[in-house]
Amino acid sequence: MRFAKLVDCLARLEKTTKRLEMTAALAELFKGASEEDIAPIIYLTQERLGPAFAPIDFGIGDALAAQALAKASGKTIDAIKKQYKTKGDYGTVAENLLKQNDGSKLTVKKVYDQLMQIATTSGEGTVEKKTDLLADLLNKLSGAEARYLLRIPLGRLRLGIGDPTVMESLSWSKTGDKSLRAPIERAYNVCSDLGEVARIFKADGVDALEKIQVKVGNPVRMALAERAKSSEDVVTRLGKCAIEPKYDGLRAQIHKDGDRVRIYSRNLEETTEMFPDIAEGVRKQFKAKTAILEGEALAVDTETGDYLPFQMTTQRKRKHGIAESQAKLPLKLLAFDLLYADGKDVTRVGYQERHALLDKLIARGETLEVAEQLVTQDAKLIEKFFMEKIEHGLEGIMAKRLDSPYQAGARNFNWMKLKRSYQGHLTDTVDGVVVGYLRGRGMRARFGIGALLVALYDDQQDKFVTVAKIGTGFSDEEWPQMRALLDKIALDHPHARVEAVMEPDVWVEPKYVIEMQADEITRSPIHTAGKIDDEPGYALRFPRVKGFIRADKKPEDATTVAEILRMFKKQGSQRTENE
Ligand code: ATP
Repeated sequence: MRFAKLVDCLARLEKTTKRLEMTAALAELFKGASEEDIAPIIYLTQERLGPAFAPIDFGIGDALAAQALAKASGKTIDAIKKQYKTKGDYGTVAENLLKQNDGSKLTVKKVYDQLMQIATTSGEGTVEKKTDLLADLLNKLSGAEARYLLRIPLGRLRLGIGDPTVMESLSWSKTGDKSLRAPIERAYNVCSDLGEVARIFKADGVDALEKIQVKVGNPVRMALAERAKSSEDVVTRLGKCAIEPKYDGLRAQIHKDGDRVRIYSRNLEETTEMFPDIAEGVRKQFKAKTAILEGEALAVDTETGDYLPFQMTTQRKRKHGIAESQAKLPLKLLAFDLLYADGKDVTRVGYQERHALLDKLIARGETLEVAEQLVTQDAKLIEKFFMEKIEHGLEGIMAKRLDSPYQAGARNFNWMKLKRSYQGHLTDTVDGVVVGYLRGRGMRARFGIGALLVALYDDQQDKFVTVAKIGTGFSDEEWPQMRALLDKIALDHPHARVEAVMEPDVWVEPKYVIEMQADEITRSPIHTAGKIDDEPGYALRFPRVKGFIRADKKPEDATTVAEILRMFKKQGSQRTENE
């Protein structure tokens, strides 16, 4: 396929935001593609050179684009930069500079190969070589083609073509409807590579997709859990099931091929470099030669061997100073699933059997351990297990259907999570100051008030900083009363002592204190309590009002930011404190 045809399609996509029109345009493009073209087309429309998990970077940034354009057009770098300033995008600059070029005869494959060559160029004089290759490519393209070519590596297509749109369009390209989306999606969930799925689909049809199996080195889209309301809910849905602690760390999918170990995160990014201790643990303790296993990576206290809170584990997610942080915060892997072992795909084997197999394959040692399990259908025992885990500072429990296969990428009731936050375990209440209100929708609209914007007191800066939007806890009588009081102190701008990101419909003077109960404290970008620079602030999760107005408190008597920080820390370290 000519590159020009892909460009026509991209131009069409740019003009619409309607999903159906996008699907139709992409389906037409896919239909016209050959077996050889289809994967490059998919990668390029998603601004990539390969599947998301493959670490191939274009290696083309603004500076290189400007240099290549200068070379291709004979203009100076300064002239190029000047144009960029007015146009705001190197794609448009390229189109303008190269508009006299004839339409090219280059194929998608040729363009893709040259971009790949640029990406893989290394060694001495890399920048020079990359610039030459890009300038050469630009010179062979028409203005319109150059525009899109540059936008791809610079991440400026802004088309919003997500995986679901690609999958649906692939189905449309064969059947004119979305009927084949399910088998396409299953294949994608198993191999995480839409280009490869499309190639097989094109070459051998939908039946061939069924044969795609998990493969060591190709991360598998992870199975996810639905929420459980209670222990009874778990038993009603699953009957006799496996109950495990819900460890609060980082999900890790580990691929072992002899001594080569790769680790992937929840969103399938490769994190091997960050966790050399886990990789080494797998090499030492995992008895299968080839395998894919999953577990939760957790930081442990070097003195006591206790698991540390999530906030500590995430400190290991860093690209520098790895050896140092590894010594300070060594990780453990609590393994809970097995997808592949010694040449066999076991994803269709029932969960309990996979778990038993996993247990057998782990030799005793420091890093790897199999997740603790209780098999039961007794809601009381589940509740007891849950309470024990909460007391030890864990997040809650996971319940798993005993005979369930590993369903890549699926969130369903094969796995259920029951978490502390759903059961209201933040025991302390928080006093906040009302700084504004929102008018509310539905039933509340008749009151003209539906939620309050509430702040804490920052005694260091003498400011009120927001911590919650709260719409629960007042009765139908109390809402109008509240509104009447607030309207008397309404302002047409935020009060000078109030710092907020969220905008209410009506600002008010910080005057009334209310008492709030919440499930827990979380980090949030839309609240300003404890917010420093670009870091998120702190917020209450599932807040509700207790009582009405605390007439005995002044705004400055509200809970302070320092207190909320202490509560947040306590919530994270309950486990260590209780032990
Ligand atoms: P989700 O992953 O479901 O989208 P999320 O990212 O908010 O949601 P949680 O709701 O906390 O995560 O629950 C799922 C996560 O719990 C898993 O992805 C995994 O990292 C973690 N987890 C901890 N212990 C277990 C366990 N025993 N079995 C499965 N997952 C566990």
